[in-house]
Amino acid sequence: MDATTGIPPAVTEETEPFWTAAGEGRLLVEHCTSCGAESFPPRGICRSCRARTTEPAEITGRGRVYSLTVNHQRWLPDLEVPYAVVLVEFPGHPGVRVPGRLRGCAPEEAAIGMAVGIGFEPGPGGFAIPSFVAVPEGDGS
Ligand SMILES: [Zn+2]
Repeated sequence: MDATTGIPPAVTEETEPFWTAAGEGRLLVEHCTSCGAESFPPRGICRSCRARTTEPAEITGRGRVYSLTVNHQRWLPDLEVPYAVVLVEFPGHPGVRVPGRLRGCAPEEAAIGMAVGIGFEPGPGGFAIPSFVAVPEGDGS
């Protein structure tokens, strides 16, 4: 199920490139060639102008935590709780917010605005699902 991250891996013709890239450790969002809007998750249709002229755009580099919640519920038997689930924004990609589990720091250390790197971890059905890795304070950026 999608309980660990909130992203159900619904693989369709439109989302297949995303999951394929995720398996290679690359985060793709949808870029609309009509209006320039970007969105996630990919749906094959632009959320801004409803055009179907979308193409994958890769996000690289660090993001910042936009919002977060801490999950204390053990959804799965081997799930370690608690953990933080963050919604991450990326510089240069307005409109894109990607949810995922935060790793690399204790849940209580997760904070709005903290820098995170993109990572992936094995998810339901053998899919790689986005997650994020805390970047130590003072480490560049
Ligand atoms: Zn558009």
